[in-house]
Amino acid sequence: MQVFKEKTPLQAAIKAAKSKAETIGLVPTMGALHQGHLSLVKQALEVCDQVIISIFVNPTQFDNPNDLEKYPRTLPEDIKLLEEASSNLWVFAPTANELYGDNISSEQFNFDGLEQVMEGKHRKGHFDGVGTIVKRLFEIITPHKAFFGEKDFQQLQIVRKLTEKTGLPVEIIGCPILREDNGLARSSRNERLNINEREKASFIYQTLLKVKELFGTKSAEYIHNWVKEQFTNHPVLKLEYFEIADTRTLEKINRKRKGNTYRAFIAAYVDDIRLIDNIALNNEE
Ligand code: AMP
Repeated sequence: MQVFKEKTPLQAAIKAAKSKAETIGLVPTMGALHQGHLSLVKQALEVCDQVIISIFVNPTQFDNPNDLEKYPRTLPEDIKLLEEASSNLWVFAPTANELYGDNISSEQFNFDGLEQVMEGKHRKGHFDGVGTIVKRLFEIITPHKAFFGEKDFQQLQIVRKLTEKTGLPVEIIGCPILREDNGLARSSRNERLNINEREKASFIYQTLLKVKELFGTKSAEYIHNWVKEQFTNHPVLKLEYFEIADTRTLEKINRKRKGNTYRAFIAAYVDDIRLIDNIALNNEE
């Protein structure tokens, strides 16, 4: 395991690996690693010769200073976890200054509307921050392949759009959502939930499963109302949004169109802890 804090030595190592025709895979993360992240690393190890995990809590993608401040930072534990997965990994754990210099700000992007809905609507500037950091990482590391979780499905589609628009030659690989035994999507933010809250938060996934079932026979409007009702008076969870959207465009469903694929998305709060999840509703990809 090699840990790089600076880009120059990392770039030299990448250059040497590429000169041996090795395939470079990148798994971008914000750390506080868990099995969900490791599932991405494992997929990367299967198809790449050299896998790089970036660990950086990116300030420009947080619209809420409190969330940024409370975001868990556990680099020594992260490194230990990665060492157990493989001894051949490279970690890139830069400072903000190393990536941004003294201008910590976002580039402005147009992702053809993908950025206007759901996370983009509720977290102002979030996807400009994501676009900025992912583009920067792609430029520094020049990976052949980069791995992103379907847990952040909107982000995955936006990163695909980013590569399409910038022409950066990197293949984007989407990876399935890893869950706790009770169905709750694994997330670094789950660390902030107590046992009771974790159990209660599995309600998000239970609801999505039921939505998938209803999607076969009920209208989108019916399902919307049903979901809202489920969350009303829930003892722990507060629904921020529920959407059924076209997988490709992320546009809100109007009516089901033959041949189109759809996903359902939920964002909900436990106190000030924000959780997101999604599910494929009909066969896709
Ligand atoms: P984060 O550290 O939260 O920015 O996540 C880094 C990457 O791991 C993103 O591509 C996420 O979508 C992915 N990821 C996070 N949690 C999960 C999960 N439970 N299953 C699969 N991928 C995940």
